[in-house]
Amino acid sequence: MEDMARLALVEQNVKDICKFNEILQELLQLINYILDNPHENENRTIKSETLRKVLNCEAFSDYLKYIGFQTLQNEFIFPKEQTLNKLRVAQAALERKINFCYGSDKNVRATGLPNHVQYRKKIQFTPANILETDNQLLLKIQTLFNDMIKYENEELQQMAREHIPLVTLQLMALDRMREQQRKIKTGEIKGHDMSYDIALLMELLGWFKHKFFTWVDKPSCDNCGKSTQFVKTITMRTETETCRVELYKCTSCGGNAQFPRYNSPRTLLRTRRGRCGEWANCFTLLCRALGYDTRYVYDTTDHVWCEVFDYESNSWLHVDPCEGVLNSPLMYSHGWGKKLTYVIAVSKDDLQDVTWRYTFDHKEVLRRRSAVSEAELVGAVLSLRAHRHAQLSPARRRYLAARALRELVDLMLER
Ligand SMILES: [Zn+2]
Repeated sequence: MEDMARLALVEQNVKDICKFNEILQELLQLINYILDNPHENENRTIKSETLRKVLNCEAFSDYLKYIGFQTLQNEFIFPKEQTLNKLRVAQAALERKINFCYGSDKNVRATGLPNHVQYRKKIQFTPANILETDNQLLLKIQTLFNDMIKYENEELQQMAREHIPLVTLQLMALDRMREQQRKIKTGEIKGHDMSYDIALLMELLGWFKHKFFTWVDKPSCDNCGKSTQFVKTITMRTETETCRVELYKCTSCGGNAQFPRYNSPRTLLRTRRGRCGEWANCFTLLCRALGYDTRYVYDTTDHVWCEVFDYESNSWLHVDPCEGVLNSPLMYSHGWGKKLTYVIAVSKDDLQDVTWRYTFDHKEVLRRRSAVSEAELVGAVLSLRAHRHAQLSPARRRYLAARALRELVDLMLER
């Protein structure tokens, strides 16, 4: 919340939209540089002319102080001993704000920073086809992990953003936060303030479920509109992909209906219908388009959902778009009585066996797990991760390693 609200204040003060874009870009460059080179002493001061010109704007200097900059002899500097947490949140907020306002990161000039500090380009990941195994589960995990790369396409993300009524959702998110604050004040509920990111995620979730996407069990008859019965599945090649198509026959008139199971998130933005696979697929794209670090979560007992990283609590949150549910990870084991065995989460640059977040009797779950040995599974996760991490900056690698370790500790606790 804080970051986005504070940036909105700066925006109001600057007024000129091109200038504001420059400010965002240059601040983001500096933050990227500090995060990528946390041990370097140089280049931690605001030197860019564009940024220096707005230092007399109170909203802007307040924001700099808020994210950890300090004034020292009329200079704004990010002290070495300062924690990087707020800077990381600011990085995400700035990236999101730039995406909202200006689309992709084109036409970026590097001023005020040394020439070697270029604006960080989005990494073009190469897929990992490295597992030497014929184990079906491990190969599936490799495929899922490689599939995450498709959501990083800037043009696709832009197309996704064009579907989201962002201003409306943002206003509703602010209302939701205020409502939460009020309830806490009056003692109606216990807890702490909701972050803007989470409030916006909840609005996105509600809009996606109730306004954007439609659930399909069986398609209705093309001819008379009445209900149909499943006949068989065939394979179809479209312009963009090869996918399964379920064929149905009408129980009244004998007419036909078909239900293509598209895998391309680009196509799903158009068709906006399906079962949990299509729901999680398209929702993953929308989350990535809004800058959330997002996981696609695969459960081998036939369900998929998402997880979104929450910088406030430093943890991955369970998000089920079909159910419109946030952070209720035990709903499958408890509520649905599912016998979960393997739950694997993949993001653009990491993956994890998260079964333990979604189950409560670890011993019993272990007894059910027979698709692959535990050692082989861990080995596969580590090799896939290492392959992708080799394509990241050292700072991002370090950050992800620390984050994965924290998550492992969390996953070991039985709830
Ligand atoms: Zn019919």
